Formats: sequence, C-alpha cells, structure tokens
Amino acid sequence: MNSIISVDKQYVAGTYGRFPVEIVSGNGSIAVDSQGKEYIDMGTGIGVTGMGYSDPQWVKAITDQLNKLQHTSNLYYTEPCAMLAKELCERTGMSKVFFSNSGAEANECAIKVARKYSQDKKGEDCYTIVTLVNSFHGRTLTTLAATGQDHFHKLFNPLTPGFVHVAAEDFDQLVDVVSNTKVAGIMMELVQGEGGVIALSQEYVSKVAKLAEEQDIPLIIDEVQTGNGRTGSLYAFMAYGISPDVVSTAKGLGGGLPIGATIMSAKVESVLGPGDQGSTYGGNPVASAGALNVISRMDDEFLQGVKDRSQYVFDAFNGAKGIKSVTGKGLMIGIETERPAKDIVNECMEMGVLCLTAKTKVRLLPALNIPMDLLAKAVDVIKTVAAKE
Ligand SMILES: *Cc1c(COP(=O)(O)O)cnc(C)c1O
Repeated sequence: MNSIISVDKQYVAGTYGRFPVEIVSGNGSIAVDSQGKEYIDMGTGIGVTGMGYSDPQWVKAITDQLNKLQHTSNLYYTEPCAMLAKELCERTGMSKVFFSNSGAEANECAIKVARKYSQDKKGEDCYTIVTLVNSFHGRTLTTLAATGQDHFHKLFNPLTPGFVHVAAEDFDQLVDVVSNTKVAGIMMELVQGEGGVIALSQEYVSKVAKLAEEQDIPLIIDEVQTGNGRTGSLYAFMAYGISPDVVSTAKGLGGGLPIGATIMSAKVESVLGPGDQGSTYGGNPVASAGALNVISRMDDEFLQGVKDRSQYVFDAFNGAKGIKSVTGKGLMIGIETERPAKDIVNECMEMGVLCLTAKTKVRLLPALNIPMDLLAKAVDVIKTVAAKE
C-alpha cells in the first residue's frame, strides 16, 4: 500500500471513507495523484475550489497577502476583511457580515442571530428554529440538531434543544408549527445538497418567505453549498427573488482556504453587539484576500458561463441510457442512475473522472470555469459507465 495511505490510516481519525488515492497536485480542473495519474475533477473538494486548482489570479491574491501579513487578531482592522464584507453586502443588498472558518460555524452564528433577535422581541421562550427534513447544516452539536436526518444524530444525543424539522414542500405543516410554537427562525437550503441535490420549488420558497416576513420570523438561507456562483447566481436566493434575513456561506467562498460568512440584512444587522460573537481566525486576511478575488470575478458573464455549462450537463444526461433523473441547479447536479451510484463513482475514478455521491445519486460539483472540452469528456465517461448493464 502507498505509504501515505498507511500512515493516514494509522494516525488520522477514521471519520472519512476515503478512496485509495493520494492527491498531490492540481491544475485548473485536473487533479493528479501520487502515481502521476490525472483526473478530471467533478467534485472540487466538495464544492470548494470553484475557480479550479492553482488558479493564477487567486494564487496571486493570497500570496501577495501572505507576503504582507498572514494574521492579526480581530482587535485590529485589516483591508481584505473589510473589502470582502463590502463586496458581499454590495452584491447581495445585505448589510453586515460576520466571518468564521466553516459552514457549521456560519450556521451557528446565523442561529445565534435569529435567537437573539426573536428573544429580544418576543421573549426568552421564543427560541425554536424550524428546519427541513433531509437538510444538512453541519457537524457541531447545534448544527447537527438543525440537520433533519436522524442517522447523523445517533449516539450523539442530547443535541442542542429547540429544533423542529418539517417536510420540505409541505407548507401547511410549517404553518401549523408556526401557529403552535414560538418560532425564532426558519432555516433552509434552497437546493438540498447532502440530502440528494433537490431544489425547493419557487412556490414553496415564496410562501415560506412571505410567512416569515408576516410573522417577523428571521429567515435563514444556508448557502454553504449553493452560494458563491454554484447554482448560476451569486447566491441561490437571488434567483428565487426572496430577501432572507440571514445568509450563511462557506465552501466555495474561499476558493480553497477555510472561511465562513454569515451575511445579515438591515433588519438584523445590529442584533450582534460587542462580545456576542467572535472567532480568532474569522476574517483572516489571507483567506479573505482569496475570497475577495473569487467573489469579485463572479460577474454576469461568469455566471452565464455557469448556466451554459449547466444546460450542457442537463441536456447530456436527460433521457440517456441508465439515467433515471437529473436534479439540481447550475453546476450543483444530482444524477439518479439505474446502477448504484457508488459503483459508478468507483468506475469513473478508474477512468480518470472524480465524482461525488449524495444519498443514492451521483453528485457533480465541477469548477465553475471548467473548460468545455474537459466537461464534455467527463460527461462522456459518466454516461458510458452509467449505461453499462
Ligand atoms: C457542507 C455544508 C455545511 C457544513 O460546512 P462545513 O464547512 O463542513 O462545516 C453546512 N451546510 C451545508 C448546506 C453544507 O453543504
């Protein structure tokens, strides 16, 4: 066995089912393993390296910053943090940002904002956060409580109390909970990622947003996976035409360095005051400089490129042999195949294409700027593998 794999197996906590491959480098949409084998990367580190590997502009942005200042505490101001927050607010029409280091942390902060807003207005017994069945919001004990999938909870109880899960698309169930419980926040992904790449309907999302506004319940949209251009809009909520109170994001924001952001609307921008939240690394100048580079390049032309690539993938798989359905939005795509998704992912890997799974589906999260010839090649391989008897 490859020696790094055996060292990892001996010393790294066994929380991941890893493939027997050691990735050593990458360039654009190509990843290279320790044997020198090249793969077309259709997973981007689970929706992280949206500009591809070693993107020259991103590398320049972070190395320029690294050569100036790698970190200071949040007791002082830094330019990348301030300019990234400005960019995020101006592009989303929102008001303030709290920076952290991951999706789970971005959601923790979002939940704190919703609870503090609601308890201040409606009393300390107003703390319940409603999320959806089949959702995924993170691995901390609170974001696990938010996650509406029981198998993640097993043997970790008791989780943070005050979470209720309702079925997606069942608006009456949500109305029922809101009428019978003091609800401090409603939190959802617009395209459920880990849950199987399922987009919520426009009708349901519009109704939820209207209810939240009427009842003065903060609406949190978890854009950890859907954000940062992934669905063909800068953030997925923008295409749904809603105005959430809080948007959490991470994954693709940093382009490959850890950063999380909790973006707040004018309504909740003053909820968190001095001492209410903090993070030693939050807004780190190197991670922020990389994120600013990523976000500022996502203009209309870039996002149109995501939509065009998306259309190509949907057209290629819809109705193809061995394909039952294609779901998702933009370059966040789930493919239900006749053969088990796991087998397809393994065989694609053999043939030089890295894919992901989500529940029973093959999940694709390629770089947002993947060259069309590589995209076409990867699609052909996946189609060939899926069409086998
Ligand atoms: C990945 C993910 C998270 C958790 O992000 P981490 O950075 O792993 O903590 C939360 N919500 C959604 C929708 C995700 O896809």
